[in-house]
Amino acid sequence: QDLIAGVASDRLAAFAAREAKRYAASRPKAKAALDKGAEAFLGGVPLHWMKDWPMPHLPLVAKAKGARLTDIDGYEIDDFCLGDTGSMFGHSPEPVAKAIRHQATRGLTYMLPTEDALEAGRLLREVFGPFRWQIATTATDANRFAIRVARAITGRPKILVFNGCYHGTVDDAMVELSNGKVQNRQGLMGQVADLTLGASCVEFNDLAAVEAALQTGEIAAILTEPVMTNSCMVLPDAGFHDGLRTLSRRYGALLIIDETHTISSGLGGYTGVHSLSPDMFVVGKCVAGGLPTAVWGMTDETAQRYEAANARRAPGHSGMGTTLSANPLQFACLRANLSEVMTAQNYDHMEKLAERLAHGLAAVIDRVKAPWHVVRVGARVEFICAPGPLKNGAEAAHAHQPQVEAALHTALLNRGSLIAPFHNMMLISPKTRKRQVDRLIAAFDEVLTELFR
Ligand code: PMP
Repeated sequence: QDLIAGVASDRLAAFAAREAKRYAASRPKAKAALDKGAEAFLGGVPLHWMKDWPMPHLPLVAKAKGARLTDIDGYEIDDFCLGDTGSMFGHSPEPVAKAIRHQATRGLTYMLPTEDALEAGRLLREVFGPFRWQIATTATDANRFAIRVARAITGRPKILVFNGCYHGTVDDAMVELSNGKVQNRQGLMGQVADLTLGASCVEFNDLAAVEAALQTGEIAAILTEPVMTNSCMVLPDAGFHDGLRTLSRRYGALLIIDETHTISSGLGGYTGVHSLSPDMFVVGKCVAGGLPTAVWGMTDETAQRYEAANARRAPGHSGMGTTLSANPLQFACLRANLSEVMTAQNYDHMEKLAERLAHGLAAVIDRVKAPWHVVRVGARVEFICAPGPLKNGAEAAHAHQPQVEAALHTALLNRGSLIAPFHNMMLISPKTRKRQVDRLIAAFDEVLTELFR
């Protein structure tokens, strides 16, 4: 009997075909609209990532509020994808919507600060720690700029990243390990440069390999997520973060922590909750409640080194910044989100329901004896169609089961729950309700009961 992630392959194929058919039959309006109007876009989608959703065709969203999407075919969908974290605090949080309405008639971008900017700066320090901040528009950009600063102040060429990591479309991090050798990621489009000249790569949770890389003297910074969230979900071993901090100091490299996803951990992100002490801190996506904004900050000591490097460089462009960044709309939203939405009370709610979801899914997996497991980081939950825990990116790559996941995602959506594409991630927002979580658990139960019959 041929098994995929423990599921009989012929049963999976029949299940996948039935669910795809059910989906296609249920959304005639979206299908007709796409057939008529999607051609303007390359490949029929405005962002090629949208091709990675597994359904026969995309739904078209009519509106979204809180943790609920409504599509043009009239379905109300419990949204656990939440824009893959951009809307982790719910769709259009009221304080943020109000800030947008207020700023909407006062100008949208002027390359000058506002009073909201000063208040947002104060709040950033209050929530994330005493860093010196810069505002960007995407976490991709924030990481790029942090990397530039690290190279400038250390005079070293390479960034050390972990195999299977993702830090946005930052070419400097687009390397991978293959048979123990660092190379450009194979899927990269149109990259002619040898990225290994500027990056090295080891496995997560491997401090010996980190030390060996640092011993070359070429590493300007370690860039890492506190938990690998883009390769299934890989938790740090006890002592891993302490080790990174100790080793990076010993060998004169900076430590950059990218909290773009682990902001789910609680107030102040994983760094705040677990008292990490990075030299630079990056967070994007949901930091301004869904309005495109990212922030990156550095410690006072790093800021002094930055100033010195800045004073040394020749006049001309620094290679950092984008024109629309630090605009007044971002500041209005940052201020509203940091002060009224990203609160301890909301995190409490998110944590509680995420725990309920993780327990519920794990109980189903247990009952049907699926060789799967569940991992949770605060409000972020992931089921993984392989036994766990996973230790690093190589194991995570192995654990990925695209065929099973695609069928499952479509089946869950047919039952009213949307989870993130590419992997099996679910987020709880402050507006997510217990009954939505219970519906998702029930759908998961129904599907796994059939697949593992
Ligand atoms: N850092 C991490 C950890 C991410 O997961 C992502 C996006 N998934 C990014 C940075 C980049 O974010 P953006 O696509 O908004 O630039």
